[in-house]
This record gives sequence, C-alpha cells and structure tokens, in this order.
Amino acid sequence: SLTGTGLHLAFGRNKILRGVDIHVDAGTTTSVIGPSGSGKSTLLRVLNRLHEPDAGDILLDGRSVLGDNPDRLRQRIGMVFQQFNLFPHRTVADNVALGPRKLRGLSKDEARSLALEQLDLVGLRAKADSRPANLSGGQQQRVAIARALAMKPEIMFFDEATSALDPELVKGVLALMADLASGGMSMIVVTHEMGFARTVSDTVLFMDGGVVVETGEPEAVFDDPQTDRLRSFLSQVL
Ligand code: ATP
Ligand code: MG
Repeated sequence: SLTGTGLHLAFGRNKILRGVDIHVDAGTTTSVIGPSGSGKSTLLRVLNRLHEPDAGDILLDGRSVLGDNPDRLRQRIGMVFQQFNLFPHRTVADNVALGPRKLRGLSKDEARSLALEQLDLVGLRAKADSRPANLSGGQQQRVAIARALAMKPEIMFFDEATSALDPELVKGVLALMADLASGGMSMIVVTHEMGFARTVSDTVLFMDGGVVVETGEPEAVFDDPQTDRLRSFLSQVL
C-alpha cells in the first residue's frame, strides 16, 4: 500500500497542498479528479518525492520512506505522463530496455527479452525495432507504459496519460490501463476521463484548492456528491 498523510507543500507563499491524505491499498486503483490548478500533479510529484513535502509523511507498506534515498522510492513507482518522452534515436525495444539495464543491472540480453515481454503485454511486440516517430501517439504512450512496467514498479502513477492523444487513440490507452488495474496493479490515475474514473477505480478522490474535498467509491462520488464544489465540478465535466 501507499499512504500519504497530512501532506503540505508551498511554493514560496503559494500553498499548493494543504494537508492531503491518500491511501492506496495494494492492487487497487485510485483516480484523482479536480479542476486545473487544484494540485493533482503536485500531489503525484510529492508522493514520488520530486518535491519534498513541507509537512506530512509518505509510507510504503506502512513504513515511512522520507528518510530513504528518493531514488529508491522512484524506482518502486512507475510514472506515465502526458508527454511520452521516448528517446527518438533509439528503437522502441531499447527505450524499454534502458531502465532495467542501467538501474536494475540486467544484462543486455536479459533487458532485451524483458523489453519484448513488456511490449507483448501492451500489444506492440511487432514494433520492437521501430523508432518512436514511426508509431502513433497512442502506440508511443503504450511504449511509455511498457517502459515503466519494465522497472517492475509496486505502483503506477498516471498523470493525464491520454490528454495529449487524438480522440481516436484514447480508447486503446485507457483499455490498457483498465487491463493493468484488473490485473492487480496498484495505480493512482490523475484523469479528466470521468468514464474511466467511474468504471475502473476502486476509489475516487476529488481535489480542489490543494485539499481532498471528497473521496469514496465511484458511485458515491459521482452519484451522491456531498459538497457544492464537487457538484459544480461534475456539472462542468459530465
Ligand atoms: P491541471 O489539471 O491543469 O494539470 P493540477 O491539478 O495538476 O492542474 P498542479 O500542476 O498540481 O495542478 O498545480 C497546482 C498549482 O501549483 C498551480 O497553481 C501551479 O501554478 C502551481 N505550481 C505547480 N508546480 C509549481 C512549481 N514548480 N513552482 C511554482 N508553482 C507551481
Ligand atoms: Mg496536472
């Protein structure tokens, strides 16, 4: 499980997170929704320690990780962003194999076969020796997911992974994310895709102004909002 408790973060005088609690049980998916600027991406960056929280704690399986080397935590968390950030001059398979070689110490052959295995999982084994530029945006994002999975993370973070994709490519990426979720991966998914949040997540967390305004099972959050802030957000996005 991954837990954040009482997380605070300010940039200068700007308080971005004001006491956020989040708990993701192993094998479950939490979707984070909320308006632009509410702190969703910042929360992910605090949870993987790209920013150190001003207050609060982060626990993996009940143990605080704030005293550890941040790189160790980042290796346990797979990140997928809006931009795929693949290396353009390397093949698809090399993009996936690079992390396991450099950071997990696999041999060239081991890393190659792991890369092919992960590409198979995302339906792109046949593209192993292509360059990223020869793939569609949706395929490139699936390579980025394969690259994250090759690091054998304990939990995956997705930050608007489908927001930069052409509409017809969104479905395939969401289907892959849904497959990962039903396969038992632990995930935090920041998303504007309310259909995904409703049907795939175990828990939905609604943020506004750096706090968690409401959280619960999707049915409760979407069908029975308790606050005006959530009601007004849902009326804009649904
Ligand atoms: P969106 O839906 O648009 O992606 P978000 O909920 O992910 O929004 P964040 O990116 O977390 O929002 O940003 C929350 C606030 O923090 C914004 O006001 C943003 O300007 C500010 N912010 C984010 N990163 C930094 C930074 N590195 N330095 C200063 N301010 C920042
Ligand atoms: Mg964001």
